[in-house]
Amino acid sequence: MPIMQMPDSLANKIAAGEVVERPASVVKEIMENSIDAGATWIRIDVHEAGLSEIRIVDNGSGIAAEDVEKAFLPHATSKISTETDLFHVKTLGFRGEALASIASVSRLSIQTSEGNAAGVSLELEGGEVVKRGKSDARQGTEIVVRDLFYNTPARLKYMKSLHTELGHISDVLNRMGLAHPEIRIEATHNGKGLLKTSGNNDMLQVISQVYGMSVAKQMSPVEYRTLDFTITGYIAKPEVTRASRNYMSTIINGRFVRNVAINKAVIEGYHTLLPIGRSPIVVLSIEMDSILVDVNVHPAKLEVRFSKEKELYAAVRDMIQSHFRKMTLIPEVTKKP
Ligand code: ADP
Ligand code: MG
Repeated sequence: MPIMQMPDSLANKIAAGEVVERPASVVKEIMENSIDAGATWIRIDVHEAGLSEIRIVDNGSGIAAEDVEKAFLPHATSKISTETDLFHVKTLGFRGEALASIASVSRLSIQTSEGNAAGVSLELEGGEVVKRGKSDARQGTEIVVRDLFYNTPARLKYMKSLHTELGHISDVLNRMGLAHPEIRIEATHNGKGLLKTSGNNDMLQVISQVYGMSVAKQMSPVEYRTLDFTITGYIAKPEVTRASRNYMSTIINGRFVRNVAINKAVIEGYHTLLPIGRSPIVVLSIEMDSILVDVNVHPAKLEVRFSKEKELYAAVRDMIQSHFRKMTLIPEVTKKP
């Protein structure tokens, strides 16, 4: 066969394989867009673990009427425009791939309105626009994704049980909640509540929603500043442990990430206080200059690289060590017989 550049529709489907692994990826990408759009409130309603329908409504900036179709083109983004921008990413999205990818493997409809401008609606099937119209929605965006993977049967077949897929959606919602306690999140599955946060910027309250009140009660606030990093969050008492490291959450500049080094630093900070093989429950939110973190590592943006990883490691470890040192320095009040 001669060499040819692929048509966009084919390229999108291939890209979709990387970005849209499962229904939970759709929830994550669309919520990230809502957050980037400055939403203070996001509502998520999913049906059949997201395979039949995912509806996400936000009160963010909305998309200008003349831009709506562009948002579904590959590599179309309003978030970065130069190579320099790529090293200073301040938004959750920047690849311009999510909407094009999601639309190419589903039946998608969007209603959006910017400010007081008249809104527009658009319907796409397998990435092709099939209907345009007006919308009377107020400022913000509503996206409905139906029949995910209807045109990629191999991927659809690969989906695990509804229970497993719902578990992944729940994880995404919990991470979004922990990373953004300032945003009110209301989520349901088949009409039943999944997560509800108040949006009053109280991380402990979200921890209590996610892990339960009894865990939240066992957690203490931490705060630590270095020249490069501001770390805040909550860490559990050493006796409240789990067998898996999944209860260690790291948020970098509002983005939930997986980072082995930070987890190791946390464990080292607890040192001998943890039973062997057990992991603590921690939620750490770390702010740093965007130049210090490379988010362009992984299509789903779950992994990042740090240019000052050693310093960050030391900061996390020292913060936790000094927290427990302080606690044991305080003499225990002994009861008089
Ligand atoms: P990216 O987030 O990487 O820019 P997306 O494909 O996710 O790429 O979105 C494309 C563009 O559509 C975004 O850059 C943004 O301008 C616009 N957009 C998407 N969702 C929303 C939303 N909920 N509110 C406002 N604008 C949105
Ligand atoms: Mg995006």
